[in-house]
This record gives sequence, structure tokens and C-alpha cells, in this order.
Amino acid sequence: MSELRWHPLLREWVVVAAHRQDRPQMPAEGCPFCPGSGRVPEDYDVYLYPNDFPAFSLDNPPFSPEPGLFRSTGARGLTDVVLYHPNHNLAPSELSREHWRKVVDLWTRRTRELQQQPEIQYVFVFENTGAAIGVTMPHPHGQIYGFPFLPPLAERELGAAREHWQQTGRCLYCDILGGEIADGRRLVAANASFCGFVPFFARWPAEVQIYPRRHTEALTRFSEAEAEDLAALIKLVRMKYDNLYGLPMPLMMILRQSPAKGEHPYFHFHVEFYPIQRSAAKLKYLAGIESGAGTFLNDTVAEERARELRETEPRTLTDGSGLSGTADENR
Ligand SMILES: [Zn+2]
Ligand SMILES: [Zn+2]
Repeated sequence: MSELRWHPLLREWVVVAAHRQDRPQMPAEGCPFCPGSGRVPEDYDVYLYPNDFPAFSLDNPPFSPEPGLFRSTGARGLTDVVLYHPNHNLAPSELSREHWRKVVDLWTRRTRELQQQPEIQYVFVFENTGAAIGVTMPHPHGQIYGFPFLPPLAERELGAAREHWQQTGRCLYCDILGGEIADGRRLVAANASFCGFVPFFARWPAEVQIYPRRHTEALTRFSEAEAEDLAALIKLVRMKYDNLYGLPMPLMMILRQSPAKGEHPYFHFHVEFYPIQRSAAKLKYLAGIESGAGTFLNDTVAEERARELRETEPRTLTDGSGLSGTADENR
């Protein structure tokens, strides 16, 4: 069982989950996410799998912090694993656009369900990909955490968006997107509903953010056409990433949504990619300056990386025929 401990210096919660130490690199009996494991249906497209080593669980005591310096409380919440595809060896960039749409629909359905849970304050959809990130399972998957509190970075962003809204009457994200489109140098890829760019203020090498063109708070507010376009742009950006250096890009993919409770009209849904490969041979580590000072040192220039990503062909690595990248149905 895990618990939350209060960090009084940073005023944030730390999840203490000692049982996660026992997490296997890859279980000897085989991958539990593969059909035939007995843990998943024999035939699935996408599948919501309960985390075997949950940081948050509905079985934990409730989140009800008491005052005090050395305080702890229950880590009650939810953690799901989102299995993207039954094929163990498929990279996320190799999922077809149609298949990414199934992932988007699963994220949306689960977001709606978790937002209705009284305990859940924030639905955090994300993916870690690549051994360099520390991923223990190569099978293509992402995760969803149902937080019993608003995590600090979400809270900080909300504060900035709320202040901008109050001061200018406009959405912070709509203003950023407008500025990026007007400038054009940092745009990477776009379609009718979404726009992907390396932000002027990028912290990670080749960081990309994807914003919906229409002001929208959460996945659950998208139209059919928008869900379709989100899947298409995620697919396109993933292919470009994997082709940037000709290797599967180790990265984190983060979906930023408005909190599960309350009205947040100033918030604007978006996707953030944090790739950690800063060149074909070098990784970006969070070292003293980032971990100790909280200031990112990015030794790549946004305009330069955006141009490279724009010019990189969107094709999958294992697909010798080039541009298709939509052939996962026969894998
Ligand atoms: Zn597998
Ligand atoms: Zn907006």
C-alpha cells in the first residue's frame, strides 16, 4: 500500500509506494499485456488494464490530510494502464491513425468516468516510452492516474491561465497559439482542428505541444471530427519523432486537462511531448540545475528543432516502404 507524505518545504505531496520496488523489468512468465497471458482478453484493440503496482488505489485509506509538519494521508485514487495494441513489438508511431482514434476514445471515456468519481480531483493521462525513460515494459502502453488532489504543475498552469484571463479577458493558450501561428518559425505540423509546434519557451529538446484551434477544456468536449484530428496529429508527430534520429524516440507524452471538479473556462486542453534525446547519441538528463533549482537548461534552439521536425518525413521506422505507417491492422 502507498501513502502520501507532505513536503513542507515545497508544499507538495510525495507518493511513497515502496511496493513498486518489486516491479519486474519484464516478468519471467512473459508479458502480461500480450494476448495469451491470461491477464488480458484474447482479442482486443485497446484495453484498460489495472496497474499491478498502483501508486494510487481505491483500496487505500481516503485522502484527508490533517495539519502538522510530519503528516501523511491515504493515497486513494486510481491508476490504469492503457494498452494501445495487442502487438508487443509495435512502437506507438506504428499504430495506424484509426488505431490512435481508438486510444483517444478510450482516454475520453475513462476521463469522463474518473471525473465523476467523488474522490478524483484530476485525471492525468500520460505515456512514458523507451528504456532510457525507465519503462519496464516494452509493450505499447500509456497510463491514466486519477489524483485525489490537484498535482502542482497542473495547479501552477491553471493559476497562470486564470490570471491571464482575468487581466486580458482572453485565453492564455489561444494567445500563445495565435502568436506561434503568426510567427510560423516554430510550427511543426497541423490539421483542421489542431496545431503542433515547438513552443518559444521549450524546456526539453524538440519539445512539441499540440493545441486544439478551438478553445476547449478537456477531451470530453471534443467533436467527432476533433477526436479524429487529434489522433491524426499525434500519429504524425510520433512518426516525425522516430524519424528525427532514425531511432524510437524516448519520450513522455502528457495530456493537460482541466481539473475534474469545478468550472475552469480559462483552461485550454493540450498535449505536451517531452523527448529526452537531445541528439542522435546524447540523452537529456535532469541534473542539478533542473532538479535542484527547477530551472531547465535546454541546449537546443526551438526554431532550429522545429525546422528539423517540419522537414522530417512522417514514416514509421520498421516500414521499409516509406510513407504508409497505417498498416497495423495486418500486424
Ligand atoms: Zn506484450
Ligand atoms: Zn483557449
